[in-house]
Amino acid sequence: MNPYPSQQGTIYHITKTCKSCGCDRLKHSVYHEELGSVRDRLGLRESKINHHSYDSPPGLTAKQTELYWSSLAERAPTGLGGATGAAAWRAWRTRALASQLPKQDLSLAHCRHIDENHRKQYEDFVAARNEIALDIGVASQYHGASVDCAGCNKPIRSGSITVQAPRIGEEAYFHPTCFSCAECDELLVELAYCALDGRLYCVRHYAERLKPRCHACDEVPIF
Ligand SMILES: [Zn+2]
Ligand SMILES: [Zn+2]
Ligand SMILES: [Zn+2]
Ligand SMILES: [Zn+2]
Repeated sequence: MNPYPSQQGTIYHITKTCKSCGCDRLKHSVYHEELGSVRDRLGLRESKINHHSYDSPPGLTAKQTELYWSSLAERAPTGLGGATGAAAWRAWRTRALASQLPKQDLSLAHCRHIDENHRKQYEDFVAARNEIALDIGVASQYHGASVDCAGCNKPIRSGSITVQAPRIGEEAYFHPTCFSCAECDELLVELAYCALDGRLYCVRHYAERLKPRCHACDEVPIF
């Protein structure tokens, strides 16, 4: 089940149908601007959104979006007070954003302790990471002879949703449940990953593989 069904009061273009899948716009959830997307946060590329569900991978039809979320069911979080489903995923996303994509890893503007002499090194680190390691996984419905998941080595069946990581390799396909950080094992929020030595990492743990993090202020890198 898509945990983010359209909510009353959030729909505006009621007469339009969706260009990409032709479905009724009424069935779409509208992007929650105030929450911001991972793409915005990373400043990676123009915002592509999944108009069925604002925090689902773009490019999937409504049916594929449902399939994506149902394939994640075994890793569904349980929220505070035992909340499940959409509410629990929403709470998980908020936590995961802060933990996986620390603002101070993304831009100097959020660092308080990097002095004048180290600004250049910080900028170089961030630029190099963005250039060679950081990317967003691409979700699609897989068709063809089954391939082995680059995470668990078990087969990905034709017809199921898969996530590709181009920075790992052209043929790097993952089960949605296997698209997680090699260090903390958390599902990668909105499929944002860093590639290092053929493995997936969240932004936080990618940095920590290369630089020590200060436990006091949570900033990295320290030179
Ligand atoms: Zn649609
Ligand atoms: Zn797998
Ligand atoms: Zn991690
Ligand atoms: Zn510090």
